[in-house]
Amino acid sequence: MKSTPEQLSELCLACGMCCDGTLFGKAHIKDADEFDRLKALGMSTFYEDANASFTQPCPQYNGSCKMYRTAPSVCSNYYCLPLRKLKRGAASLAETEKTIRQAGSLKRQFLDTCPKTPEFSGKSIFEIKQYLNMKERPLPEQIQMRKEHAQLYPLGLKLQLLLIGDEGKKKEMANK
Ligand code: SF4
Ligand code: SF4
Repeated sequence: MKSTPEQLSELCLACGMCCDGTLFGKAHIKDADEFDRLKALGMSTFYEDANASFTQPCPQYNGSCKMYRTAPSVCSNYYCLPLRKLKRGAASLAETEKTIRQAGSLKRQFLDTCPKTPEFSGKSIFEIKQYLNMKERPLPEQIQMRKEHAQLYPLGLKLQLLLIGDEGKKKEMANK
């Protein structure tokens, strides 16, 4: 059975993981008018290599989107992996709700597992994952970090696989 736009909206309004910094650190803005509008709303807009973006966690997110009906096009056109499966009939509504609940549970586990240290204080999951992305660090530091944060790596990976799949970072809420 086909999903309705209302069902998709309800799922997103209850989830918010592509708004609150769980999945993304930024979202791309499609056109100049939208850039000005979002800037005027106090959103943190910036240009990087000629690409316009706003940062996440999104200041419009307060348990749900405060501007849902007038959200930027990147938001209203974005569907995470479970929603894409629901839209094309590859998953039922009940299965999709279950997947998103599982992702929510992983998010809570991730945050509960984070050490209460200055490196993680006030950081979103996306920012913490960036911190833990250690490719540039010397090998002894990498080994130490893997030991210290052994539980966080699989939680972050499972969460990403559930909601984005294995397409990883290239999505960045831009290429939908
Ligand atoms: S992660 Fe999926 S369900 Fe959650 S807000 Fe984003 S698009 Fe909606
Ligand atoms: S504008 Fe709304 S839908 Fe878009 S990222 Fe911010 S809170 Fe989420």
